Amino acid sequence: MENADLFPLAFKSPRQRQEFYSPKLDARLFWIIGLIALWVSRKHGLAPELTDVYRTGEEQRRIYPNEPTRRSVHQFWRGCDIVARGLNAAAHAEIRDFVNRLFHYGKPGHETCIYHDVGKGWHLHVQVK
Ligand SMILES: [Zn+2]
Repeated sequence: MENADLFPLAFKSPRQRQEFYSPKLDARLFWIIGLIALWVSRKHGLAPELTDVYRTGEEQRRIYPNEPTRRSVHQFWRGCDIVARGLNAAAHAEIRDFVNRLFHYGKPGHETCIYHDVGKGWHLHVQVK
């Protein structure tokens, strides 16, 4: 079995697949994403799609052109974006709450899992400190 078959997980492109299985990705994040994939698969019968893993400084500035000094956990291999296409906001909120009950970010005012849209569509942003 190849690594790629470990979880019921789809990837936006080969880049996201390569980054997800990179040893640079924070190991906690790897397993949280895997758990989300298993949850979505067992409960809803579909594979969620990993849309973003690593982000370069240039890519970060393109998303937040008005905040050139703003940094993201994606630049440090500690953030992933995932979406279960076909599931509504309530189903995504349920996944978010499930993740946040199990994994505490460890910084007041911050959550491990957020459901948001910053201009590229609604998705779950998952992060570790
Ligand atoms: Zn994100």
